[in-house]
Amino acid sequence: MEGSCHCNSVHFKFSGQIRAIVNCHCNLCRKMNGSAFSTYVAVPAQSFELTSGTLKTVKVSEHASKSFCTNCGTPIYNQNPRLGDLKIVYLGTLDNAAKLTPAINIFCESQLIWVTQLASLPRFEQGVN
Ligand SMILES: [Zn+2]
Ligand SMILES: [Zn+2]
Repeated sequence: MEGSCHCNSVHFKFSGQIRAIVNCHCNLCRKMNGSAFSTYVAVPAQSFELTSGTLKTVKVSEHASKSFCTNCGTPIYNQNPRLGDLKIVYLGTLDNAAKLTPAINIFCESQLIWVTQLASLPRFEQGVN
């Protein structure tokens, strides 16, 4: 499985078994990503290989870190040793993101209430003027 960042300088791949695909609704993920919630694919760290580009890693909590493209800022993965030796890869960076479906929602105690109603909002194939 392969992925890349927005500016195309970071490329990575991994071959290991996907451990989980989750939507995380926690306040830390919401704040550090600026999004309502974040969708992640957890893979064994040893199977993850950065094939081009440069990542910067910042500490985001006592245990967790976030790694992103130094050129465009696209988040690539998080790590938290307390969760095991995993790369918590951002689903949106993967080439086959459309084929990966989250299995669970976590930290729903912090979920924004309107997230449960997304499917009922008016839909447009592209933006509106
Ligand atoms: Zn980039
Ligand atoms: Zn989270």
